[in-house]
Amino acid sequence: MEIADLATRVAAGDRRALARAITLVESGRADHRAQALDLIAQLAVSGAEALRIGLSGTPGVGKSTFIESFGLMLTGAGLRVAVLAVDPSSARTGGSILGDKTRMEHLSRDPQAFIRPSPAQSHLGGVARRTREAIALCEAAGYDVILIETVGVGQSETVVAEMSDLFVLLLAPAGGDELQGVKRGIMEIADLIVVNKADGDLRDTARRTCADYAGALRLLRKRPEDPEDFPKAMMASALDRTGLDTVWQEVQALAAWRRSHGHFARRRAEQARHWFEEEVRQGLLARLREEPAARDRMQELGDAVAQGTAAPGPAAREVLSWLRQG
Ligand code: GDP
Repeated sequence: MEIADLATRVAAGDRRALARAITLVESGRADHRAQALDLIAQLAVSGAEALRIGLSGTPGVGKSTFIESFGLMLTGAGLRVAVLAVDPSSARTGGSILGDKTRMEHLSRDPQAFIRPSPAQSHLGGVARRTREAIALCEAAGYDVILIETVGVGQSETVVAEMSDLFVLLLAPAGGDELQGVKRGIMEIADLIVVNKADGDLRDTARRTCADYAGALRLLRKRPEDPEDFPKAMMASALDRTGLDTVWQEVQALAAWRRSHGHFARRRAEQARHWFEEEVRQGLLARLREEPAARDRMQELGDAVAQGTAAPGPAAREVLSWLRQG
């Protein structure tokens, strides 16, 4: 199919065309890459804007249950919802722990929803690029809300936060010890902390956990770009489907505030610039590695730096001096 046709079909909201387009951006083949870039460039002018919500939590906290319930609530309200996953563990273990369609049985059958599992790629950078481009494609396809799910491993939360408008952290009800377990960095990027499983016997524990986190959030540095009462902690039950409407209201309230104060657009602009520079950086490195002699020398210099026999700055200067000759 011609790229122009694919672009037209994606823009018309055709889910199969969207799936195909994402397969194209995931491909490692050079000809596919060229087509993918064409496609993204053609669709970039659509002007459609979705709300991009990052969502993180450790395995078992209830992410897929939450996305299923939350997603169905949104589609029930007439919104179109896309779910993407960033799962760097899938490359290491060969199995994905996120984005599995069978875990979101009803949502995956909903014509108003689109679910795409994480691709098996060897490094977070590759998954990040693909996810960013998949977001752009879903946006061009007219989705209103894009949920970007990640598990709390390594750097994946930071990467997801850098491609989201808002970041939601899911936590389970737990004793005080657990509070220490949440990395400060994650608390700092969270806009909403949702204590899930606030149902049945867990309800009281959830209430205490929620109060603990609300206290912890108050100790963090205030963000001048947000209303007084954010970041916020709240309770929900993905299983009983309670509290989800409040989560959605808070998400909308924060997005509306940031929009009206110009922070929403500014954050997107900063993110776009960040990813542009990242593409240039990665592209330059890839270009350097294409040349066998350059690749060997890069390896040597990298080893020397690792062994402490060369310093990073001077070693990089040698590499950068090749660019001027090129
Ligand atoms: P994920 O690994 O974060 O995607 O977690 P899952 O959505 O697979 O849920 C893990 C387990 O927690 C499952 O057995 C769910 O049924 C259960 N669970 C998820 N949400 C809730 C909830 O709101 N309340 C209760 N009681 N259990 C839940």
